[in-house]
Amino acid sequence: LNTPHVEIIGCTQFFGVPQLLQENGILPTQDQGSDGARLIECAGRSCYDSYGKGRASSEYHTHIKEVGHGSVTAHATINYFLSGISRGLTHELVRHGVGTAISQRSTRYVDECDSPWIWHPLIDQYCSEPQKMELAEFRRRSGQLYRTMADHIQNQMVAAGIDKFTARKQARGAARGILGNALETEMVWTANIRALRHVIEMRAHSAADAEIRVLANRLLEEAVKIVPEYFNDYERQPCDDGIGFSVATTYRKI
Ligand SMILES: Cc1cc2nc3c(=O)[nH]c(=O)nc-3n(C[C@H](O)[C@H](O)[C@H](O)COP(=O)(O)OP(=O)(O)OC[C@H]3O[C@@H](n4cnc5c(N)ncnc54)[C@H](O)[C@@H]3O)c2cc1C
Repeated sequence: LNTPHVEIIGCTQFFGVPQLLQENGILPTQDQGSDGARLIECAGRSCYDSYGKGRASSEYHTHIKEVGHGSVTAHATINYFLSGISRGLTHELVRHGVGTAISQRSTRYVDECDSPWIWHPLIDQYCSEPQKMELAEFRRRSGQLYRTMADHIQNQMVAAGIDKFTARKQARGAARGILGNALETEMVWTANIRALRHVIEMRAHSAADAEIRVLANRLLEEAVKIVPEYFNDYERQPCDDGIGFSVATTYRKI
């Protein structure tokens, strides 16, 4: 199985409750938990001036989910480095534009001639060895054709007076279509907690494509280590096709 590589490379750091919000004091049970959760609590309590009274942190976060006051969760973010994923997958991931930031490897600046292709989990699961060998041969031939076309176009453009850097970028752009949606890519992908929950709910789902489902499973597995208060309410259910899990929660789309 082509397990996607999912690595957290950054996340929100909380410096502490602002002086002005500390006037009522802070109960010992408040301002507890992960940095992301403490920031979210601070954002929420600033709406009601509620440090020093009311709920403990753990109950506070449950309450935010219960009432769907999800806007406060958009303050905290997680930064991922993703690789071992196909461009077909990222075409779906980038549709989640709200609350995310994306920096993806360029197929114009990078020579993709020898780049791996990511075989979809269903290919891994259901295709025979001879079929997989045929796919590997197809990838090899496509890489060769890509190289031949990119070199040819670049040479023609340079001969026509265009500088080499521009010609190479344009030539790779023209040739990349040969490589298709399975081409491996990598990206730095950032999401705030609200957006991340939504992506997980939509994509860690039996109706979602199996490759992005596996990615969403991994996003959740890593996120729960960083901000458990906002990812420990998901129950996992195995999918009928045997690949990854679907999530269920009482608090959908906060
Ligand atoms: C199983 C599945 C099948 C799919 N099939 C297709 C398909 O066949 N074709 C296709 O084109 N797409 C398809 N999609 C993509 C889907 O339509 C969404 O574009 C994608 O899931 C992004 O989700 P989102 O719209 O919630 O966007 P996000 O960026 O994640 O937005 C989060 C939320 O913000 C709000 N929001 C976002 N944009 C706006 C806006 N412009 N105005 C008002 N509110 C907004 C919405 O409440 C939205 O849910 C599919 C997705 C899934 C999960």
